[in-house]
Amino acid sequence: MEIKKTQHSKLDTIDPNNSPFGVNISDHMLICEYENGQWGKPVIMPYGGMNYSPALMAIHYGQAIFEGMKAYKDKNNDVFLFRPEKNFERFNKSAERLAMPPITKEIFLEGLYALIDLDRDWVPTKEGSSLYIRPTMFASEEMFSARISNKYTFAIMTSPANSYYDKPLKIKIENHYTRAVSGGVGFTKCAGNYGASFYPTLLANQQGFDQIIWTDSQEHKYFEESGTMNVMVRIGDIIYTPPVSNTILNGVTRDSLINVARHNKIEVREERISVDSIVNAYQQGTLKEIFGCGTAVVVNRYSHVGYNDNIMELPTLKDEESYAVLLKKQLVGIQTNELDDPFGWRIKI
Ligand SMILES: *Cc1c(COP(=O)(O)O)cnc(C)c1O
Repeated sequence: MEIKKTQHSKLDTIDPNNSPFGVNISDHMLICEYENGQWGKPVIMPYGGMNYSPALMAIHYGQAIFEGMKAYKDKNNDVFLFRPEKNFERFNKSAERLAMPPITKEIFLEGLYALIDLDRDWVPTKEGSSLYIRPTMFASEEMFSARISNKYTFAIMTSPANSYYDKPLKIKIENHYTRAVSGGVGFTKCAGNYGASFYPTLLANQQGFDQIIWTDSQEHKYFEESGTMNVMVRIGDIIYTPPVSNTILNGVTRDSLINVARHNKIEVREERISVDSIVNAYQQGTLKEIFGCGTAVVVNRYSHVGYNDNIMELPTLKDEESYAVLLKKQLVGIQTNELDDPFGWRIKI
């Protein structure tokens, strides 16, 4: 792999341990271009602008996908990735649905390992922090026909990140707007999914909520996801989460938490969750926790749930009573090499 190192590391001016999520991009990026039916040679180079015109097809027709994953540092300054092959596989599923070419394992994974190795000083050490990794692919042909692009750019960038949102959030069960429809692109990390979610989220913010719980597009009766996270609900001592489908993204955090919970002998049911069953459980006092899960935040607890004009206030559990807290602690422990990894998820760089 060709590596062009920067002559001016930004580490002189940026402290990775004190860096808000997604703002400071590390010294290097990996770039690989697709043209004439094949991928070229990946190059690691100093992070910076690329030369594209506003006719870039990704901007007009939305062939743009991404991934989100993290690198962690342990007390000995060893660097680890967490289940990166899951992100690789999902990236290619997104690519297929958007009629984009698949990327090879060599470019995605070997490129990723080389990039993280080179920028290992950017991986923060502070508790709860990590190096966020953003692979992306977008149509890079420049012209106006609404058709599949013949050129693509694949890139990987990284950014040191403090953990973000930590306070319990107020969420609104959305019963008008829809994130994903059956047969659509909801299971992919394609750019348009996020652009389309901002307006309903803005409206929810104006009503005093932090986030939305998306419901099914047909009846708005079943939980789908929360914001850009998967959703889990604890009723009594059982965790429920909707099964992945073509409208629900197959989260690595979701899958990992299910495994960690079952390892702790906590029952997890992958079943549809109806809004009615949530309201019932709330009225009977058995609704204990609702939380979102995803790479960026790991687990985010919810304190209030708005539905129509009602607000359900969830009980304030002590940390030692909360499944969300327990599962987060164990998952982060595995990710950061503080705990044993019985699942074989960590990869040392
Ligand atoms: C990325 C994402 C998730 C979480 O996936 P992780 O692999 O756990 O980070 C969940 N839902 C949506 C819509 C997402 O984009």
